[in-house]
Parts: sequence; structure tokens; C-alpha cells
Amino acid sequence: MTVEVIVCGGCGAEFGVEARRLEELRETGETFYCPNGHSRRYTVGPTKDQKRIAELERSLRSAWERAGHWQQAHREAVSMFRRCPLCLEVVTRARDEERIAARIAEHLIAEHGARPRMRAIPVKTGTAR
Ligand SMILES: [Zn+2]
Ligand SMILES: [Zn+2]
Repeated sequence: MTVEVIVCGGCGAEFGVEARRLEELRETGETFYCPNGHSRRYTVGPTKDQKRIAELERSLRSAWERAGHWQQAHREAVSMFRRCPLCLEVVTRARDEERIAARIAEHLIAEHGARPRMRAIPVKTGTAR
């Protein structure tokens, strides 16, 4: 078995935790104790859905960028973007990409627990034409 040495953030004591157990602790955010009895826990990272959303934000962003370059692709992309990328529900019938982006963002937030700020989706399209 592999043991990883970690440091208690409370007292600075170094102690070994079995790697598999450590991974488990990181995933679950479960409380554990340093040799001096300080309770420690890892902040649980993004959930699967949130990770998926982050991925989608990235792919949406590049798709939006590509779409900006080719009108045809752009039109196709716009109709594609009317669907929620997670549950494939058609979220809006809007034609205006700003409005579609806003609806999708609202839907992701309301239905899938996305964080309110969808950086990938240009809520305001500044100089794009
Ligand atoms: Zn400690
Ligand atoms: Zn959805």
C-alpha cells in the first residue's frame, strides 16, 4: 500500500494516510483527525454535474467562437444551442443568440445547479457582428 504524508493545517503535524483512503477523503469531504486530534476535512470539489457544466462551458465557448466565423455554421449552432446541452430539452425558440444564451444559462442554473455566472456564454455581445 502507498502512504502519503500530509500536514495538519491546525498544528503542522505530518502524518501518513493510505493513498486510497486519502483519495476517498478528498472525494467525500468526510471528517478525519490528525494525530493530535484536530478534525480535518477536504473541501469537496465540483460535483459530476458541475464538472460536466464546466466542460460544456468550454465547448460552448469554442463553438460560439467558431460559429462567429462562419455564418452557416453559426445558424446551425444557434438552433443547436436552443437545446439544453445536459437534458436536451428545447429551452427557447428565440432567434437572437443573446436571448438564447440567457435562457440556457437560466435553465442550467435552475435545473442543473450551474453557478449563476456562465462565463462561456456571452450574455452581452459587445463588438461581435
Ligand atoms: Zn493537528
Ligand atoms: Zn436541462
